[in-house]
Amino acid sequence: MNLSKRDFLRAAIIAPVATSLISNSFVTAHTRTTQNSPAPTTPFTLPALPYDFAALEPHIDAQTMQLHHDRHHKTYVDNLNKAVLDKPFLRRLKPEELIRNTRSLSPALRDTIRNNGGGHVNHTMFWRIMSPQGGGEPVGEIARVIRTNFGGFENFKKQFNETGTKRFGSGWVWLTRDRRNRYSIISTANQDNPMMQGLFPVMGNDVWEHAYYLKYNNRRADYLNAWWNVVNWDEVNNRLRL
Ligand code: MN
Repeated sequence: MNLSKRDFLRAAIIAPVATSLISNSFVTAHTRTTQNSPAPTTPFTLPALPYDFAALEPHIDAQTMQLHHDRHHKTYVDNLNKAVLDKPFLRRLKPEELIRNTRSLSPALRDTIRNNGGGHVNHTMFWRIMSPQGGGEPVGEIARVIRTNFGGFENFKKQFNETGTKRFGSGWVWLTRDRRNRYSIISTANQDNPMMQGLFPVMGNDVWEHAYYLKYNNRRADYLNAWWNVVNWDEVNNRLRL
């Protein structure tokens, strides 16, 4: 996820502008000015995994990683590209901007962007906050955030895992930060991202069955426990600076 501080600030500033871009009154003028600079045919791309499929074993198996990245994430990207094929005003947005600004879209397009744009943003973060060198106690700023807001790492893990276990059906469990720097553990359904409710996703775990079923079968709680062995705290700290 190449979301630099500047990009995040820019996205925050652009959000209201982007909303107006999507409104009907603006589309005609905008289309006219962009006729001579066609957008790329596939504006959204599947990022390469930053490690091998087998790198997170034994905690996450190679086959799950391969299917998860090459099939599931790729499908979100493909569907997202398809959805914006003839929508020049959407193709120009970053994925994060896109999923924040679905209100003025038609219901069908809104659902498609929400599911597939959310899927793309969520998984792009997910690959990066895991690492074969991950695990262990949190370090740096995230260690402080966890200590001061959740009474220590053990309590934090317990609350995070419980929230993930209780999510009925498919979804994600997140550590989020609001605009007043308050931290919460929440879960979202399907591929919804906390940005859709104005929260910043500091870190999140995928609790769809496709994330764990081959190795853990129906034992989601075991997967949630094992996941801490691969969490890349350095990348979580990078995200805290966004
Ligand atoms: Mn997934």
